[in-house]
Amino acid sequence: MEYEVVIGLEVHVQLNTESKIFCSCSTRFESPPNTNICPVCCGYPGVLPVLNRKALELAVRVCLALNCRINKRIYFERKNYFYPDLPKNYQISQYKLPLGEGGYLNLPSGKSIRIKRIHLEEDAGKLIHQDTYSLIDFNRTGIPLLEIVTEPDINSPEEAFEYLNWLKLTIQYIDASTCDMEKGYLRCDVNISVREKGENTLGTKVELKNMNSFKGVRDALEYEAYRQIDCLKKSIPITQETRLWDDGKKKTFVMRRKEEAHDYRYFPEPDLVDFVIGEELIAKEREFIGELPLGKRERFIHNYSLTLKEVDILISQPKLADFFESAVNILNEPKHIANWLLGPFLECINSLKEGEEIKITPNNFAKIVKYFLDNKLNNLSAKRVLSLALLTDKDVDKIIQEEGLIQVSGEEELSIFVEGVIKDNPKAVGDFSQGKQEAIMFLVGQVMKKTKGKANPKVVREILERRLLK
Ligand SMILES: [Zn+2]
Repeated sequence: MEYEVVIGLEVHVQLNTESKIFCSCSTRFESPPNTNICPVCCGYPGVLPVLNRKALELAVRVCLALNCRINKRIYFERKNYFYPDLPKNYQISQYKLPLGEGGYLNLPSGKSIRIKRIHLEEDAGKLIHQDTYSLIDFNRTGIPLLEIVTEPDINSPEEAFEYLNWLKLTIQYIDASTCDMEKGYLRCDVNISVREKGENTLGTKVELKNMNSFKGVRDALEYEAYRQIDCLKKSIPITQETRLWDDGKKKTFVMRRKEEAHDYRYFPEPDLVDFVIGEELIAKEREFIGELPLGKRERFIHNYSLTLKEVDILISQPKLADFFESAVNILNEPKHIANWLLGPFLECINSLKEGEEIKITPNNFAKIVKYFLDNKLNNLSAKRVLSLALLTDKDVDKIIQEEGLIQVSGEEELSIFVEGVIKDNPKAVGDFSQGKQEAIMFLVGQVMKKTKGKANPKVVREILERRLLK
């Protein structure tokens, strides 16, 4: 018997706003607990929420980028439930009329995942459980969230992983959220069921929670698909339940069994008037969107002769992709620009200390690559110039001049160093004449050392070979 896995994802994304969704409290993540709070987000009686325009704009932008139909009539509803992290005892959300519906996200694999709905809501507080008591931080109550729900279109853990990565990248491209999972700016719940292939009705679904990374989501789904298929094979009924992923044990555990659906007693939020989103707002957001990652990916594949892997790394960060294109506009050597960006450049960036800001311009970067291609800087010196140029906007020509790094390629000048090295290293010279090829690399290295890394190693090798083989 063959089985099919059916997965639906529910992603919560924190929108990139300075203030909360219904009050002017800051959304700053680093603030000490319970300092970004006010009577509105703490649910004091008699206070009035006011919708944050920026949150609405960003939400519309995401809906458009995910090809949703926008419901222009905005109205919020109260989702009533009691929980210690929810001081109002209700969450302002959208239920009957979500902001966006009927969208889709195309994946590089060619699959299209339908988006069922996207709605705006406020976040709850954060509970911090200690041994015998719990702490509560209300800084997060009232942070604007977007809930993005897919249709059950995903058929493997790998596909869920691809969707999540692509959704995140799309949202980052349009500046609607940083999607920083470590800060909880992107959270994901999943539903998974299995059925026999060819079956039309869905199997009993299980909800999974507590995955802290996309890899965690993929691992949890892999485990759960295996567990459920095993149940089907053994004719053990699958129970509708919520399970928690334990990343250490690599297993899911039952959290709660759902007897029936929750009754949240939704009703329209009386303190927020409903209104119609203006065409101008939608037009402005549509204009902002620009090129999305999938389009950029296809264009890069088409325009530059790069490997798929190179393209994927370049487009994985909008800033990196822009930097690449700006540099290519200055020096039309896409392959070399990509090599230097994905190699030495990223290496330099990874070794930066916290707080150090990258200031190098695409122009300066292209210049370094040009110096290298013109044989005026050897590999080592070019890397050194790059590390010096990274944190300044100082002109590269000036840096090279100050450091005296221009490559020495002149045979006459280099021959002097070569003669010195031959004289000082009779053993290596002897080894080479007895056929030990690696001895020549040692000698080249000695010349590089003497010239403080400025010699052109290719020319040095040529001189050495000519000199020793005669
Ligand atoms: Zn507040």
